[in-house]
Amino acid sequence: MLYKLPRLASRATPSKFEGDILPPPLFFRVRRRLHRCHLLLLALLLSPFSLLAQSSPIVILHTNDTHSHLEAYNEPDIGNVGGVVRRNTFIQETRSQYPNTIVVDAGDFSQGTPYFNLFKGFPEIELMNKMGYDVVTLGNHEFDNGSKALAKRLKLADFKIVCTNYQFKNKQLAKLVKPYTIIHVDGKTIGFFGLLQDMRRLILPTHYQEVTFLDPVATAQKMVDILKNKENCELIICLSHLGITAEFEGDITDKNIAENVPGIDIIIGGHSHLLLEEPVIVNNTRILQVRKHGIYVGKLIISD
Ligand SMILES: [Zn+2]
Repeated sequence: MLYKLPRLASRATPSKFEGDILPPPLFFRVRRRLHRCHLLLLALLLSPFSLLAQSSPIVILHTNDTHSHLEAYNEPDIGNVGGVVRRNTFIQETRSQYPNTIVVDAGDFSQGTPYFNLFKGFPEIELMNKMGYDVVTLGNHEFDNGSKALAKRLKLADFKIVCTNYQFKNKQLAKLVKPYTIIHVDGKTIGFFGLLQDMRRLILPTHYQEVTFLDPVATAQKMVDILKNKENCELIICLSHLGITAEFEGDITDKNIAENVPGIDIIIGGHSHLLLEEPVIVNNTRILQVRKHGIYVGKLIISD
């Protein structure tokens, strides 16, 4: 069965940020619930390029913790939700409305339905290719079948995979997973890097033995320095699977990163399965997350 999203109503015109300080003091938020599909759009308008002329806004669509939910399903408190067909329709409609759309995921696209058990995570990658994902970070569940199996799947990915604070002994993973990536869109330079949690309390030792964990705060600081000073990025986005709150004592969270590493404009997070209807703002860094299982797609509109 094919799901079609209803057409979006015309968007409220965002106020222009006029001023000479960056980052802008305000987020302009537009939120809509689409009744038939129960897809909540979190549309956040941000103006970091206020001093530059911009023809078409840059839109970032983001998901996290989709957990092999390829089909629509019934979520008790909402109803019929999710599914890659519905998600794809939304992504393609957004792309046709906003040609400068970037699609990202904050990890844990694997594990959670029999699809993963039966087909070992390959359909997830192929469908993300088809949906046109651009940049993705990994979550702990990507490692559920070990590093070798993960490398085999990631080899098929058409999107960029970023993780900054892991060092891989597996040569293929070391080649496939980059510390950061740069996307040039509409004359702007946007830098993406990825952070993952310490998996030693989450998965089997056999599955993380080929990974060395580096301190997320120190590596994030290093990334910001490189992206700002060497790569001249105008916007720095961290895809994080750390979680916004600590799961175990001593965990480093998205909030800790924002508190300790100045210069990250946006943290697109995962792992906590929390729906943040508004960004959590810490030290001028906006932290976002959209629950789980592809129920929601976050939509960030960056306009001048
Ligand atoms: Zn997770």
